[in-house]
Amino acid sequence: MSRIGILGGGQLARMLVLAGAPLGLRFLVLDAAEGACAAELAPQLKADYRDEEALARFAGEVDVATFDFENVPADSAEWLATRVPVHPAPRALAVAQDRMAEKTLFSELGIPVPPFAPVDSRRSLDAALAHVGVPAILKTRRFGYDGKGQFRLRSGADADAAWAALGAAQGGLILEGFVPFDREISVVAVRGRDGAFRAWPIGENWHVDGVLSATLAPAVVDAALARRALDHARRVAEAVDYVGVFALELFVRDGEVLANEMAPRVHNSGHWTIEGAETSQFENHLRAVLGLPLGAVDARGWSCMLNWIGAMPTRDAVLAEPGGHWHDYGKTPRVGRKVGHATLRAETPEALAAVLERVGRALAREAQVAPVLARLRS
Ligand code: ATP
Ligand code: MG
Ligand code: MG
Repeated sequence: MSRIGILGGGQLARMLVLAGAPLGLRFLVLDAAEGACAAELAPQLKADYRDEEALARFAGEVDVATFDFENVPADSAEWLATRVPVHPAPRALAVAQDRMAEKTLFSELGIPVPPFAPVDSRRSLDAALAHVGVPAILKTRRFGYDGKGQFRLRSGADADAAWAALGAAQGGLILEGFVPFDREISVVAVRGRDGAFRAWPIGENWHVDGVLSATLAPAVVDAALARRALDHARRVAEAVDYVGVFALELFVRDGEVLANEMAPRVHNSGHWTIEGAETSQFENHLRAVLGLPLGAVDARGWSCMLNWIGAMPTRDAVLAEPGGHWHDYGKTPRVGRKVGHATLRAETPEALAAVLERVGRALAREAQVAPVLARLRS
């Protein structure tokens, strides 16, 4: 029986543990937080990622290590990789941890990206603005998630405020051109140890205040555009010899796709695959890191994933739907925190729209389902 070590014990680790049980897998979660979300389901080694003694114990107790959290220090991942197989490899992790390295790789691979430039001083912000233009977004190169560590500039007059907000951030900054996108989509894909590559049908994503709110899959997108997006994802994975599941977030603008960022792990926009695909992102990630054959990634009908942020709504209206599925991460409610999600699944787009309308009304979440309904009915 294999034991998988997971660095980070959040809801992604929790869902990996749930997916691993039928495969007969055991887990060990490394996380410094008291009562990490995954720790209800798997043993937790409570320690910091930089704690070498803990890392050595962790390595000694697992057959392979992987991540629920992408900001594990690269040094720790590398140190671990000298003792136990680590997937994805530290190099792939390092690229995805730094927005400059990531965007540079994308452009080297011929994948379109918004204009971007590094910023490491107030003066270089002016130079970057001259290169990128306005409107623009100043972002921390590292550690950003859920839209944190970002400042939007409408004009050069916002430069002082942007620098005051983010200038002190560790690891430097990047200025990106603001993309007035028509849509946001993501490719969630998996690559095996043998190089086998599979991508789930593309999802369309809606964010509120920088946090994912809803995903519709399969996205209603042009076939040629979808092929380009999948091809970009495959090229990125091959370039860094990626093993496991990852997500590539893209903007769609006038029929073109521009890469935003990649997440070197299972991804919130792939949660729909638990019930909405033949094999979930969590199961395929485990299969990939263990070197097992990958499962099929075909969608079963149409799915919409709704994130529960801050607090859980009541679940009855979702459970009353034949294709309604509930996920409560068991987390303490807190403003802005992802505490759970629901996936609604149906055989046709029309049926899914009807389900979303009922659930939106029953939970007073009309605004959350509105953009998905509009897409399904367009
Ligand atoms: P995540 O939680 O997905 O890791 P993050 O904090 O890493 O988020 P991004 O994905 O870069 O941040 O940005 C969050 C959201 O902000 C994007 O999904 C998009 O809606 C918006 N955004 C980011 N960059 C741009 C851009 N250059 N142009 C337009 N909108 C953008
Ligand atoms: Mg991100
Ligand atoms: Mg993102």
